[in-house]
Amino acid sequence: MKADPVVQRRLLDLARVDTELARVEHRRRTLPEIVEIAEAEKQVRAKQDALTAVETTLGDLDRDVKRQETEIDQVRAREERDRGLLAGGSVGAKQLTDLEHELATLGRRRGALEDDLLELMERREAVEVDSQHASAQFANAQETLADAARRRDSALADLESTEAKRTAERKTIASTFEAPLLAVYDRVRLHKGTGAALLQSRRCGACRIELDRSAIAKVKEALADDVVQCEECGAIMVRTGESGL
Ligand SMILES: [Zn+2]
Repeated sequence: MKADPVVQRRLLDLARVDTELARVEHRRRTLPEIVEIAEAEKQVRAKQDALTAVETTLGDLDRDVKRQETEIDQVRAREERDRGLLAGGSVGAKQLTDLEHELATLGRRRGALEDDLLELMERREAVEVDSQHASAQFANAQETLADAARRRDSALADLESTEAKRTAERKTIASTFEAPLLAVYDRVRLHKGTGAALLQSRRCGACRIELDRSAIAKVKEALADDVVQCEECGAIMVRTGESGL
């Protein structure tokens, strides 16, 4: 294949833009925020689970407190009824003894229930503190996630704008080449990553491999307008005074 040396050198401009486009694509896939977001999402799920667990415990305790209060109310109502009967004065001696005995039993029962209730409420208070803590941690985790997502979106927007500019630039440069030369360049770029590079100090600028004696001899034999490709990576080797020929 033939191409004017000036045209061949312009392939380097195309390669530079393609390198930048490849860098944009690589950066898009390797943004640190991607890992950060995955970790933050894991944290949000863990904190959510912890919050749900502590809220379930709190709900259970609320139910226990209510049940305990109802039971105490029932005992208290029974006590009031007994006291009412005693105050009425219309009970016989046997019933009087029974009522007094029952009142003593009910008093002890209520005392025990009230002790249990106090203990329940203390536990509930501690769990309430845990719940506030878990709730704050959940909110923190959500904020961390939102922050990482904002930074990712902003980085992606920057990359998108760079990509749009470079893509337009590439289109302009690419349009100046004959189709067959561009096809060779694009095919090599697609398979190896770099379509054209400078041959510098006998080294292919794409794969960095130094040309051996026979390869150098072949390059030396080639005419200035011959398109020379690296035997290792296929990149079009653009020759200049720095090529070491
Ligand atoms: Zn090479």
